[in-house]
Amino acid sequence: MVKKLGKRIGEETNYIPGAVNTGVFRDCIIDTSWDITAYEGWVPEFVLITHGHADHFRLAYLLRQRGARIGAPREEALLIERPEINIRAMFSWAWPPEEMVTSFFKGTACRVDFWVENWHYPGITPIPLPGHSVAQVGYLTEDGVLFSGDALYTRELWKEFPLPYSIDPGLVRDSLKRLKLTEFQWLVPGHGKPLTKEQSVEEIESHLAHLDRLDEMILYYLQKPRSTEEIISDIYTALQLKNSLAQYWLAVTVIKAHLSYLHRKEQVRFFLDKYRVYWEAIA
Ligand SMILES: [Zn+2]
Repeated sequence: MVKKLGKRIGEETNYIPGAVNTGVFRDCIIDTSWDITAYEGWVPEFVLITHGHADHFRLAYLLRQRGARIGAPREEALLIERPEINIRAMFSWAWPPEEMVTSFFKGTACRVDFWVENWHYPGITPIPLPGHSVAQVGYLTEDGVLFSGDALYTRELWKEFPLPYSIDPGLVRDSLKRLKLTEFQWLVPGHGKPLTKEQSVEEIESHLAHLDRLDEMILYYLQKPRSTEEIISDIYTALQLKNSLAQYWLAVTVIKAHLSYLHRKEQVRFFLDKYRVYWEAIA
């Protein structure tokens, strides 16, 4: 049985708006809503997950118990089956105190039945969009709706979270450029309102400009050597981020990701002094 839920956005595609938007295409859903009642008792044949952050697979385990089969990119599947990997990774594999862990990483483990790289379903094409996470994919339906996970943050979201999570700004940039080159009618981001192609292009340009600005800010502060903790504190303060431990640990990853990217671009160097790593812009 194919049921139509939520709002219509394509010829055959619907989406259920929510804290995380869910796509509905024939007997598949893309990412899961946070509210089981959104499915009105219907169980999709397939649940396709964009990436292994708990907010995107929150109810996958429940739908699987009811008979759905769960698909995810191969390298993200591990994070869905073992949510503690994300939690340990942010704390260098030690187990962090509970208060330090963001709710985005706290999820109920769910077995993944297939890797979307090996899966063929007429009408849905997975599009690789890594950078926000290691192997995120978007899903493009044949009626032109692209569900982009967390690859694109709209200006509205940037206002709310001035340092959105990413593990590699170089890959984020490549994924944004891939999105721009992809043909679609509508883009449904994981968070926020659906965008037309034209609006998406504007938001992509804005996201790219934000990434450049973050790099520039880091390079500005690194005119003098700063330790990893100091540069994190500088950026955190400049962006007036919320002084919460869960946010802090997300920011640590994002700023390290930018430092790593700038190092690959030969724009910063680092050195160890008295057991502290310092970073410095290369003039
Ligand atoms: Zn995410």
